[in-house]
Amino acid sequence: MDLASLTIAQIHEGLKNKNFSATELTEAFLSKIKERDGEIHAYLNVMEESAKKQAREVDKKIAAGEEIGILEGAPCAIKDNILIRGEKCTSGSKILEHYVAPYDAEVIKKLKEKGVVFLGKTNLDEFAMGSSTENSAFGPTRNPHDLKRVPGGSSGGSAAAVAANECAFALGSDTGGSIRQPASFCGVVGLKPTYGAVSRYGLMAMASSLDQIGPLAKNVEDCKMVFEAINGRDPKDSTSSDGNFRNSNPSQADEIRKLRIGLPKEYFAQGLDPKVEKLVKNAVQKLAAQGAKVEEISLPHTKYALPCYYIIMPSEVSANLARYDGIKYGYSAISDKRLAISDLMDVYLKSRQNGFGAEPRRRIMLGTYALSAGYYDAYYLKAQKVRTEIINDFKKAFEKVDVIITPTAPTPAFKIGEKVSDPLRMYLADIYTISVNLAGLPAISVPCGKSENLPVGLQIIGKHFSEDLIFEAASAIES
Ligand code: GLN
Repeated sequence: MDLASLTIAQIHEGLKNKNFSATELTEAFLSKIKERDGEIHAYLNVMEESAKKQAREVDKKIAAGEEIGILEGAPCAIKDNILIRGEKCTSGSKILEHYVAPYDAEVIKKLKEKGVVFLGKTNLDEFAMGSSTENSAFGPTRNPHDLKRVPGGSSGGSAAAVAANECAFALGSDTGGSIRQPASFCGVVGLKPTYGAVSRYGLMAMASSLDQIGPLAKNVEDCKMVFEAINGRDPKDSTSSDGNFRNSNPSQADEIRKLRIGLPKEYFAQGLDPKVEKLVKNAVQKLAAQGAKVEEISLPHTKYALPCYYIIMPSEVSANLARYDGIKYGYSAISDKRLAISDLMDVYLKSRQNGFGAEPRRRIMLGTYALSAGYYDAYYLKAQKVRTEIINDFKKAFEKVDVIITPTAPTPAFKIGEKVSDPLRMYLADIYTISVNLAGLPAISVPCGKSENLPVGLQIIGKHFSEDLIFEAASAIES
């Protein structure tokens, strides 16, 4: 038996029944990483010693006859923009190459309390900006299904680690699709929770009104278990809340028969790969065969989502990344022997110029422009109004349907290098995922088949805090 291929539920059973120890399990994952990560490069930092120590603690508990929790001993991977105390946290950027986290993110604190084993930190696009993990300052991650292809992004390392059995589950962050799109490309399940469902304390901020932490896992059941472990109100993140994830009408949740599914016509239009469309529609058909009602709906402001996102997101990026000034955190031009520094302004400019890669710099410039006097009303304020229209589109749709199903991405995984020099083409990879972040809604990507041996995912979007219903629908698709 390959221990590294087990789901969380199977791990729990195996540990409880003493079929294997937590140490053996962790060793199995560590050897999988040694065997495969040379070519995949999902990890930036493997925390071998601390992982083994955590596993030994679990074994002691089991040996003492104590009960273990469902996640206890399950080995996981964490996107490298989420802080683990005492470990490096780089956000995939040279500017934070040597930065060590001084505290645990709230999600890490919660997982530690559950006795999870942390295998390491995973690769990402620099500051989570990108759709392919090619924007990492430390080299790209490769898709385990085809090493010539990208794993998606920005949580590409997390998705690839789950897909390659280099961890049992992972955490990622999603600002415009960064959990769902890599989940789709790597054939795993990924949830972007409702905005506020999971604390962002200890997540390096990209765009604060859009960012959410969420799980990536091998199946829907595992994904749900991890979500249940990390959600909830945290006084350290004022946007977090104790959601009631139970569906307001439980009869819908129990029975797919009563589910009303909306297919937005704007998402099944030009630009969508016909093979992806077919796989998504086939899956929906199967739900319809079980009695679900499927109807076409319209989200008329969809065409403004991408331009709206690419004003709001960079505006927030330009504010959030102002803290990397060469003084407070990480890389500083002052200690760079190659540079001559004349004054304080020079420290700021040269630290940022040398520390940030091209994509963060591009977005800082776009955002600074959109927020500047004279342009603020024309760009930022206008984008906020459009955002309200997008939110209203969803509100209206959810008067008629319980969930909305769309493709997660317009195509399966593309080739490494294919889009990296054309930012606009890269931005189009997120066309189906960004509206969800603008509206703060929960959405999951779940595999629905393969096109030429590459996984394809479909996206299920629900009302705020309707995660339970989404999991229900996703399980039906999965089975
Ligand atoms: N790919 C999108 C972007 O580049 C989304 C990133 C994310 O969700 N972090 O902005």
